[in-house]
Amino acid sequence: MGEIFVVVEHREEEIREITFQMLWKANELAQALSHSLTAVLLCDNGEAFVPEIGDRADRVILVEDESLKNFSAERYKEILKGLIEEYNPFLTLMGHTPWGMEFAPALSIKTGLPLATDCVDILIEDGNPKVIRQIYNGKLFSKVSFKASEGYLITQRPGAFPTDKVGDRQGELIKKEIPADIPEPRKQFVEFVDTAAGEMDISQAEFLVSVGRGVGEEENIKVVQDLVDTLGGVISCSRPVVDKNWLPKFHQVGTSGKTVKPKVYLALGISGAFQHVAGISGAGTVIAVNKDKKAPIFRVADYGVVDDLFKVVEALKKKLSA
Ligand SMILES: Cc1cc2nc3c(=O)[nH]c(=O)nc-3n(C[C@H](O)[C@H](O)[C@H](O)COP(=O)(O)OP(=O)(O)OC[C@H]3O[C@@H](n4cnc5c(N)ncnc54)[C@H](O)[C@@H]3O)c2cc1C
Repeated sequence: MGEIFVVVEHREEEIREITFQMLWKANELAQALSHSLTAVLLCDNGEAFVPEIGDRADRVILVEDESLKNFSAERYKEILKGLIEEYNPFLTLMGHTPWGMEFAPALSIKTGLPLATDCVDILIEDGNPKVIRQIYNGKLFSKVSFKASEGYLITQRPGAFPTDKVGDRQGELIKKEIPADIPEPRKQFVEFVDTAAGEMDISQAEFLVSVGRGVGEEENIKVVQDLVDTLGGVISCSRPVVDKNWLPKFHQVGTSGKTVKPKVYLALGISGAFQHVAGISGAGTVIAVNKDKKAPIFRVADYGVVDDLFKVVEALKKKLSA
């Protein structure tokens, strides 16, 4: 029986959501291939993490060492190379996150295994893996096959799959020592600095009105803010709005901003790039207003209005004041 590896991500004593998303997909693949599912956990305190992932995998390989408290791409690359050589997993899933982006290419070079990055789906066709990736800024999907190999490395895009627990697995714990000859990393972890939460934490808001570059200019933020105040919501935004200094960073939604889970998310003038949409996968009802009917945001929206956002904002204000 073959094996699927999932490399666990954790930060500040918490398992990251991408880990659960990878375990969700790996469960489906393991069932389709009749393979076993192994979570690979490198950390300083396994007891804190194993219970959370143990029932989502058949095995948890735990490498526990003080030096693994914080992420080190160099250490991960060395340790994972050893584990891949020992267990020969058919697939190794890693997050397409700052972690995965840093060590996956080096791991591919070290192991000689092919790597596909930023995958939004993984399929099995005739026993071989194929991956789905987005091209042309999310406008098209491409199906990619690998050169034949004994094992394959894949980085999975955050938000591509649910975080729910599926399957009924009893993770057997296998403890491994950190290799004695692992080279001292050239980079050292200094400190973890989170983005400021600001006066309102958008990740806790129940109703978000989010503005994108389509708002046009800084003065127009005020027009939207008036509506937000009337509706009793919180304003959030896409990255260009922060880059232009129209709103502070703590309002930003997306992979390099906050992950949000409001009951209602109203997106005004946001195209729906994957880095943005990844941040709203936990949102309840998504309503999008965009003057381009082909904007990708409509793929994730429950309701869509193809129109000028200012017309919609004015109509809403009028309705609310009537
Ligand atoms: C490493 C990395 C990390 C990133 N992280 C993030 C992130 O965390 N969050 C994030 O948002 N982005 C992030 N990005 C940027 C992302 O790729 C997109 O560039 C960004 O999300 C686009 O923002 P936008 O939709 O506001 O702007 P655009 O893509 O320019 O879209 C503007 C939209 O407004 C519409 N529009 C224009 N005028 C109007 C009008 N009057 N009425 C209605 N609609 C109108 C247009 O049709 C268009 O669809 C990241 C990029 C990289 C490379």
